[in-house]
Amino acid sequence: MHIVIIGNGISGVTAARFIRKLSDYDITIISSESDYFFSRTALMYIYMGHMRLKEVQPYENSFWEKTVSTF
Ligand SMILES: Cc1cc2nc3c(=O)[nH]c(=O)nc-3n(C[C@H](O)[C@H](O)[C@H](O)COP(=O)(O)OP(=O)(O)OC[C@H]3O[C@@H](n4cnc5c(N)ncnc54)[C@H](O)[C@@H]3O)c2cc1C
Repeated sequence: MHIVIIGNGISGVTAARFIRKLSDYDITIISSESDYFFSRTALMYIYMGHMRLKEVQPYENSFWEKTVSTF
């Protein structure tokens, strides 16, 4: 079984994390924006110059590399 999730927002990544917890299915997340999930709700802090992108990414990039494929 290979599960493909379109969109790497909170809904997509939460679905991927729970599918991974419950199964060994292959999981691919397709994103038209960034390679990895970032918190959209924190974007305002980047625009205001209070935070950098890596500070609004809840997971290290290596987490996704070993958990799911991203395209
Ligand atoms: C201005 C603003 C401020 C907000 N502030 C807050 C806040 O303070 N607190 C809070 O809790 N919530 C806030 N929200 C709401 C929050 O951002 C959303 O509830 C949340 O991002 C929804 O997550 P999601 O994964 O369902 O969708 P999204 O975050 O929209 O993610 C969907 C992803 O799917 C991708 N996608 C869609 N179609 C395709 C396609 N065909 N191919 C490839 N990729 C695709 C999109 O590019 C996107 O990356 C705010 C929203 C806005 C607009």
